[in-house]
Amino acid sequence: MEQDLIRWLNDQTGFPETAGGIFVSGGSMANLTALIAARDNRLSEEELSSGVAYVSDQTHSSVDKALKIIGISHQRIRLIPTDCRFRMDTAALRSAIKKDLENGLKPFLVIATAGTTNTGSVDPFLPIRKICDQYHMWMHVDGSFGASVLLSEKYKHQLSGIETTDSLSWDAHKWLFQTYSCAVVLVRDQKTLLNSFSVHPEYLKDFEKDDTLINPWDLGIELTRPARCIKLWLTLQVMGTEKVSDDITHGIEGAKYAESIIRKDPAIEIISPAQFAVINFRYSPAGLSEAEKNELNSRISEKILEDGYAGVFTTELNGKKVLRMCILNPATTNDDIRETLQLLDHYYAELMEAPERKSHIA
Ligand SMILES: *Cc1c(COP(=O)(O)O)cnc(C)c1O
Repeated sequence: MEQDLIRWLNDQTGFPETAGGIFVSGGSMANLTALIAARDNRLSEEELSSGVAYVSDQTHSSVDKALKIIGISHQRIRLIPTDCRFRMDTAALRSAIKKDLENGLKPFLVIATAGTTNTGSVDPFLPIRKICDQYHMWMHVDGSFGASVLLSEKYKHQLSGIETTDSLSWDAHKWLFQTYSCAVVLVRDQKTLLNSFSVHPEYLKDFEKDDTLINPWDLGIELTRPARCIKLWLTLQVMGTEKVSDDITHGIEGAKYAESIIRKDPAIEIISPAQFAVINFRYSPAGLSEAEKNELNSRISEKILEDGYAGVFTTELNGKKVLRMCILNPATTNDDIRETLQLLDHYYAELMEAPERKSHIA
């Protein structure tokens, strides 16, 4: 069942026949597994202490952790800036690689993201692939959050180019509606995992008689492991891929709907428009300092969390405290979104000690 599902997910990604992968506990473990393969397949013994990895300023913290575990210290991680839509700036990536080469270091790995945690942004895969090819580097895509869009018939084109990556992390316990924990790491060439993880101790020999089967302990870190694939398999059987596609599309369109309402409000500044079910904005009334605006938006978030109607948390973008809405639940309706925005507006008026505004949210 696991191998069938891995094959199917590889097909959805657009990976070739050589592809492989394994179920893991989550995006963090998927990233770690992929980064071990990247290290072992791109760095020789002698190069281990000079390998350099490239991430963007929006890359998830689990990538930092994985780099630390594989032996890449902070001095050899380059934080590449992002553009106005929080996507990796590939011109800056290229010049950082050149500079490291001039200094005798060994650039070996770029980590791109499919759906960043903060803003749902998608890094430019094809330009990154081109750079990786030129310098013989490994490309990893962290799709823990956003790879599920591959299953949306309407929006999968927004991930085109992802099929050129060497490895991909994909959480099923985020946007594929699974209970914790359920994720996969996929690689375009299964041999790269075998190269890192294959072991043949005497006490496992009885299980290795059928050499047409690949044992999962040869593809990843764990030996004893739960059957994480079954729940995802069952979901796909019961819902069918068409319903799964619609439910993922629903999230993307929910965020667009929220944006269409927010755009009409002059007191709100959109910091990142709707991308992959995520939108970031802040109340930014004239006359308040930056510090006061940060405080105001933090308080609005606290109020709505206390209320319990919706989970609108904050994050930080361009040094600003912003409100982040992430609409993944397929049961969330446009009415729910409107109510949530009305409630935010109510707390805004309360905190500003202003009269309730005649609502622009019809
Ligand atoms: C959530 C997330 C992770 C971490 O995944 P876990 O399943 O919590 O380990 C990694 N990368 C991105 C982009 C994420 O959104």
